[in-house]
Amino acid sequence: MGSHSRHGLAQIARDLRPLSDEFTKQLFARLFGMDPSLRELFPASMTDHRAVFFRVLDHVFTSIPEPGQQDELVEFLAQLGRDHRKYGLTEANYETMATALIAQVHATYASHGGLDEEDAAVVEQAVRLMTGVMRGGAHSDPTPARRSAEVVDTLRPHPGLTVVRLVAEEPLLFRPGQYVETQIPQVPRQWRPFSIAMPPNTQGQMEFHIRSVPGGDLSSAIHADTRPGDRWLFGQVHGIMRADGEQPVTMIAGGTGLAPMKSILLAMAARADNPDVHLLVGARSPGLLYDSESLAPLAATNPWLRVTQVTDSRRDPWWLKTPSHGWRTLPLRHGSLVDAMSRLDLQGHRVLVAGPRGLVRAASAAAAARGADPYDVLHDPI
Ligand SMILES: Cc1cc2nc3c(=O)[nH]c(=O)nc-3n(C[C@H](O)[C@H](O)[C@H](O)COP(=O)(O)OP(=O)(O)OC[C@H]3O[C@@H](n4cnc5c(N)ncnc54)[C@H](O)[C@@H]3O)c2cc1C
Repeated sequence: MGSHSRHGLAQIARDLRPLSDEFTKQLFARLFGMDPSLRELFPASMTDHRAVFFRVLDHVFTSIPEPGQQDELVEFLAQLGRDHRKYGLTEANYETMATALIAQVHATYASHGGLDEEDAAVVEQAVRLMTGVMRGGAHSDPTPARRSAEVVDTLRPHPGLTVVRLVAEEPLLFRPGQYVETQIPQVPRQWRPFSIAMPPNTQGQMEFHIRSVPGGDLSSAIHADTRPGDRWLFGQVHGIMRADGEQPVTMIAGGTGLAPMKSILLAMAARADNPDVHLLVGARSPGLLYDSESLAPLAATNPWLRVTQVTDSRRDPWWLKTPSHGWRTLPLRHGSLVDAMSRLDLQGHRVLVAGPRGLVRAASAAAAARGADPYDVLHDPI
């Protein structure tokens, strides 16, 4: 870190980057020292949270001095504020965070000659902007900060997957294909996004498809411990995937990436006029294609829908003791989903992609290579 004064915000961001781990450790220690009740709002392990916090801070400090980035930054921070409503933050909490953050930047520079007056002022302004816009975003959202729903059923289509069905007394507002920040009673204060696998309905019914991630906090607990009667909490709903125009739609779904596509397809099935849709749904082997039983009747009764199943392997793994045979009712090809895209002409198509991160990247690139306009290739954040 340079010891000269007049660093400027962008330079301060560069100075802090190599110190991010220590900086955020000390910041949160300072914050919890100032208000011990804040500790209750955060998960037991702060590692991920600290990393995300630093990325946001870095983004704010580097964006403010950049001409033309202000509108985007304000919208980003307002959205972050709306997202943070699920933690139950108060006005006073934001104030405490602002004070702790400003003090931590000063403390970091203290042994390097400190910040001069001008830099101290820009840090203060940046931190006030950050917390002020977040607070404003949170305030301006009239919808409830959290919703809840009760688990009514769990299914285990194969050993790596749990389907969870819930009913909310007050139905959530969302569009088919969206995902929602979710907390489960077994892992308090940790939130994960999960796609809602059915469209909104007045009965408040919801379905989720959860893949077990080895060592994963939430997915393992859902797999092992979720029972009827459990109450799940939901925060903000997000997601831009949709099929609402006249363009033909190609859906690429790997594993539980089927969940948002199923929601969109079920909503379309309730409408009279739909564009042609081709769903390519992939799994590692035929017995791991877990929802063919719902897709087959959907394809049979909706002439606009075509479903192609794609599996990497022709044979099921040895550990799959009771493989599902539902896949036999729909066409099946072997290879990867990206290989399966190689014969498609996607010019003029809306392409929706969901599934593991690597697939989303590869399939989005393949869609553009097959003629789709990159603006028409939609997926959730990865
Ligand atoms: C927009 C969006 C929608 C999502 N929808 C679904 C959905 O419908 N169904 C579903 O099952 N999941 C979905 N996910 C993934 C989900 O949010 C969690 O990331 C996943 O369940 C792992 O959480 P965890 O608490 O079990 O693991 P963590 O405790 O967060 O992670 C444990 C370890 O596993 C690694 N890890 C985390 N996620 C994955 C992964 N996906 N693959 C491989 N390694 C991983 C971590 O790096 C870490 O090392 C979605 C993610 C996003 C961003």
